[in-house]
Amino acid sequence: MIQITEKQNCCGCGACRNVCPRDCITMAEDGEGFLYPQVDVSRCVECGLCSRVCVYQREEAPPQEEPACYAAMAKDDSLRAVSSSGGVFSLLAGRVLARGGLVYGVAMGENMRSCAFLRVSEADELPKLRGSKYLQADVGESYRAVKRDLEAGKQVLFSGVPCQIDALKLFLNRDYEKLLCVEVICHGVPSPLLWRSYVDEIERKHQDKIQAVRFRSKKSGWRKFGLAIDGTRLHQDQSLSDDPFLRMFLRNYCLRPSCYHCRSKKLPSGADLTLGDFWGIWNSDPEMDDDRGTSLILVRTRRGAELLREIEDSIVSRRMPFALALASNSAYDKSAPRPKERDRFFTDLDTIPFGEMIKKYGALSPKERLKRTGLYKVIKKILP
Ligand SMILES: Cc1cc2nc3c(=O)[nH]c(=O)nc-3n(C[C@H](O)[C@H](O)[C@H](O)COP(=O)(O)OP(=O)(O)OC[C@H]3O[C@@H](n4cnc5c(N)ncnc54)[C@H](O)[C@@H]3O)c2cc1C
Repeated sequence: MIQITEKQNCCGCGACRNVCPRDCITMAEDGEGFLYPQVDVSRCVECGLCSRVCVYQREEAPPQEEPACYAAMAKDDSLRAVSSSGGVFSLLAGRVLARGGLVYGVAMGENMRSCAFLRVSEADELPKLRGSKYLQADVGESYRAVKRDLEAGKQVLFSGVPCQIDALKLFLNRDYEKLLCVEVICHGVPSPLLWRSYVDEIERKHQDKIQAVRFRSKKSGWRKFGLAIDGTRLHQDQSLSDDPFLRMFLRNYCLRPSCYHCRSKKLPSGADLTLGDFWGIWNSDPEMDDDRGTSLILVRTRRGAELLREIEDSIVSRRMPFALALASNSAYDKSAPRPKERDRFFTDLDTIPFGEMIKKYGALSPKERLKRTGLYKVIKKILP
């Protein structure tokens, strides 16, 4: 039976809940807002399936052979504008839907306070899955649903962060020719509780209900992260230097404990394709950068290569050295460092007003403030 004694050894993928034949595992939120399995021991028959599918109980393994690596941009600029990187995910998903397949990905909930996996069968639902949601998504019973669809002979594209792809593969426990797995490179997943607190604070301050969120607004360009929030009257679109949630995320205060020791970064990928941002492309191939979003694509399997070929007329792409792509994207194979203030951060989230949290953990440092005004460059020139 699955027993989480150390939180850093559970990524909340929900494979154990999905595989349990007695339905005696539920996922319950802890004080930081992350989901962990809870077993109803009175109903458990000790079948051991939950431990078999646990990502954290797999042995570490050497990396796979080098995948083919591409920089790519969707030709449709309006698609790139609403995607996080180069808009490749929507093109891949669109192909699968066009031939009657199904796409599983992550959508925001109605009240914009959480996100969860959603099964999409029609192209007009695809925008719900588009764009990164920077909080941990609830998998629910999606792995069971994927299996039902595959057994019914449907084609399925499943997309998520690497531990969710690993979990699906462990849950299925066999290969299906009609399954395509697309993983996104993952920096780590922020706390849903922090996000809810942020949304509450904005709604309180503006006396408005939030109706839409874009975690990767490109108003100030792709390279400057931006978070756009829309209500009935409120329209806020802030870049990293103005948005405290983005800063708390990228300063790593609010990540799931397991993300600081990501198991999936030490296992061979279970995906057919890996997508990410092609950071550093402006140095390595400036023609492939217009600051509106360039995707990194890693092709891992025959099925991945075939699907990518199907969208080649809709993208501008260039083969790139794998090592060069990795050099500017440490999240591919390195876990984010755990800040020493992390535990204090969550104690404070529970005890001090959110405005104080912003001042303490989300404010610009004096150096960042100087950089914004341009004074930093001047001072650097004057001082040795
Ligand atoms: C939490 C998180 C951290 C990331 N960190 C990095 C990073 O450090 N470096 C990097 O290069 N890329 C990172 N990415 C990936 C990047 O932001 C883009 O998602 C990816 O490049 C695909 O972009 P796109 O333009 O092709 O499509 P988009 O339409 O922007 O991508 C949407 C895809 O992301 C999936 N998705 C969205 N939110 C979640 C979520 N919360 N959990 C699981 N899947 C989700 C959707 O299901 C869909 O497949 C991260 C993504 C997420 C969700």
